[in-house]
Amino acid sequence: MSNNKAVVVIGAGPVGLTLAYLLAQNQIPVIVLEKQKQLQKDYRASTFHAGTLDLFEESGITQALLDMGLACPTFQYRGWSEGKIAEFDHALIGEFTRHPYRLQCEQFKLSEYLVGELSKMPHVQILMGHELTALSQTSHDVTLQLIHQGKALEMHAAWVCASDGGRSVARKCLGLEFKGFTYDERILVLGTPYDMRQSFEDLSFINYFSDPVNYAHMLKIPDLWRMSLPLFAHVSDEEALTDDYIDSRLAPLIPALSSDQLQVKGIYHVHQRVVDQYQVGRVFLVGDAAHLNNPKGGMGLNGGLHDAMSLAHLFEDYVARDHEHFADYEKQRRVEAINAIHHQTQSNYNALKESDDAEREKLFSRWRALANNESEAREHLLNSSMINSLWRCGLLEKTAH
Ligand SMILES: Cc1cc2nc3c(=O)[nH]c(=O)nc-3n(C[C@H](O)[C@H](O)[C@H](O)COP(=O)(O)OP(=O)(O)OC[C@H]3O[C@@H](n4cnc5c(N)ncnc54)[C@H](O)[C@@H]3O)c2cc1C
Repeated sequence: MSNNKAVVVIGAGPVGLTLAYLLAQNQIPVIVLEKQKQLQKDYRASTFHAGTLDLFEESGITQALLDMGLACPTFQYRGWSEGKIAEFDHALIGEFTRHPYRLQCEQFKLSEYLVGELSKMPHVQILMGHELTALSQTSHDVTLQLIHQGKALEMHAAWVCASDGGRSVARKCLGLEFKGFTYDERILVLGTPYDMRQSFEDLSFINYFSDPVNYAHMLKIPDLWRMSLPLFAHVSDEEALTDDYIDSRLAPLIPALSSDQLQVKGIYHVHQRVVDQYQVGRVFLVGDAAHLNNPKGGMGLNGGLHDAMSLAHLFEDYVARDHEHFADYEKQRRVEAINAIHHQTQSNYNALKESDDAEREKLFSRWRALANNESEAREHLLNSSMINSLWRCGLLEKTAH
């Protein structure tokens, strides 16, 4: 199998499919290789930030997300017993974005939409059930070893974009370290049609609960309410998914909700990691293959989509280009994975799990003061909506709308 003109994208997750779509819109032939036979349908990302929605307007992806999702103008910091501590309204950044809200839409809906669009494009092939097992390269060519229906295949490509997720085989074949750490606790994700507003007064559609043990986020997605709770080392995955265990966690927090009202139960490990190099010769790492972060702030997929846009720009007019042409990709994106995404998500995490009473009081006072100070609240929103990050790395122009 050889295709020297096509860019090969590994992984049909939301980042790989978005990159494939942006390349294909630019008339670049694309082959997407996905190890699974079907798209992954799990409840991970649902938050799309204002900056991302602005960035993807021209591609049509933003309109598709708006059609499928739920616009949420506000988010809150809360305590389980304290109630609402502070609320932030994206209206405050309305002069800087055409989308002054967070859009809630399950990531698998974006993937399904993209597969639908890509399937209509004659210069795109999506090869499901094709697993990358090894990769090597020379100065002019990348060789991919694949398994398809139990048989080994070889494919050659001029350029490869590896969006094969946190356990990226491509990253391992390139011999790159994935420096950072894994949190001790996992997270338990639960989804229910039960309307959480019946249990909490003045609840926003996006809420962060501060608590030394039950630090959590609670979000409305189009069909369900979704929440996450930390899961500590002494509880096994198996036990954590039992009704008894889940009920023991829910009862003190949301007495009206029990395991029989749940439609989603999942467990995820959480990491903060960034790869040293985003490009090695003719291979690029994109999305979770390049960076992982905790989901407090909803930034991992958004960051991966920003990577895809950065790389797609560099692939315009790429045929006669050499490796050097692409050096801006790493410069533009790696620093944001560390400064914007890791910094913000780690500080959200630290704040939410604060266990010292006096420090928690100080934290609540800081959140209240922040919400009541218009210019500081605006800056907070420009960071949390990733607009500042996109301005800094030059993907969005700093203009008032
Ligand atoms: C609980 C939770 C909540 C989250 N919430 C948010 C949020 O609200 N907002 C946000 O921005 N981010 C969020 N994230 C992060 C987000 O889910 C990820 O950043 C996102 O899925 C990354 O997309 P990706 O396409 O890079 O990787 P993935 O979604 O992991 O897709 C990788 C694809 O590659 C395929 N693949 C893997 N290995 C191979 C191989 N060897 N050969 C071929 N194919 C392969 C996989 O099957 C998969 O289809 C959350 C994460 C979690 C765990």
